[in-house]
Amino acid sequence: MTDGLPPLPSLPGLDLPPLPTLGPVSRQVPPSGARRRWLPAEVTAIRDETATARTFRLRIRGEAPDRHVPGQHYDVRLTAPDGSTAQRSYSIASAPDRADEVELTVELIPDGEVSPFLHEEIGVGDRVELRGPFGGWFVWRGDTPALLLGGGSGVVPLMAMRRFWHDSGERVPLRLLVSVRRPEDLYYRGEYGSETTVIHTRQAPPGDPRPAGRLSADDLRPLLTGGQIAYVCGSAGFSEHASQLLVSLGMPAADVRIERFGPG
Ligand SMILES: Cc1cc2nc3c(=O)[nH]c(=O)nc-3n(C[C@H](O)[C@H](O)[C@H](O)COP(=O)(O)OP(=O)(O)OC[C@H]3O[C@@H](n4cnc5c(N)ncnc54)[C@H](O)[C@@H]3O)c2cc1C
Repeated sequence: MTDGLPPLPSLPGLDLPPLPTLGPVSRQVPPSGARRRWLPAEVTAIRDETATARTFRLRIRGEAPDRHVPGQHYDVRLTAPDGSTAQRSYSIASAPDRADEVELTVELIPDGEVSPFLHEEIGVGDRVELRGPFGGWFVWRGDTPALLLGGGSGVVPLMAMRRFWHDSGERVPLRLLVSVRRPEDLYYRGEYGSETTVIHTRQAPPGDPRPAGRLSADDLRPLLTGGQIAYVCGSAGFSEHASQLLVSLGMPAADVRIERFGPG
């Protein structure tokens, strides 16, 4: 999804630098060794985040893989009784507190192949296979001010960054903006602090001073502190819109990193 991306269109009327300067894509081919291998993992807990998003806690069996860096993902492989397999990538939602346990949050795509199986068939005690962790571009090591912008399930890798930031003492400035359609679509409810702004695109909660609507420059301006690296994750439409806004507000395109989920 992030490989071979076409150039991003410019917003009409804005003279933006070309966004292909954003840098290499986030996924890297694993160099060698354990990360290439599929490892068995047992589902140890399942938690509903929303009506259509579920978090799976997985304990990796056998050799422990590398401890992940926030922003990385695992590939998940499912094998049917007839031996056919399907695999998809899922961002790691948990902080890198353990190498042998990770949490992945999966949005249900009703006509999809893998996400409905994970939602409807997989239970605690079941096994899947994992390979990873992968990704060397869309990662945050906690050493630079960060601005995290997530649309829908795009909040998943950003939550790993936020959890890591919180667990390691909130030493550098971090701002998180989460864009959801309706209040009930918010993942990880109850975990956010004053670092987080939630905006609603279709239906705002009662009393919210911000009317429902698409992410705007006015939403982003108060979050810009200078010296930040921006991490933008969501659908192609959300990611393009958010990154264009950041650049139009003066953020160097080279400081904007993008991960895209879903169809183009
Ligand atoms: C690096 C990376 C990290 C990812 N992290 C996550 C994550 O943390 N959580 C998560 O839920 N997904 C994540 N994804 C997306 C995930 O890999 C799958 O694409 C997704 O779960 C759909 O797979 P599926 O087999 O259910 O659907 P498919 O069988 O692949 O697709 C079926 C139909 O749904 C459409 N579709 C696929 N994905 C989406 C989508 N997200 N929204 C709307 N329509 C879609 C397809 O175009 C197609 O028409 C990530 C993808 C990448 C590349």
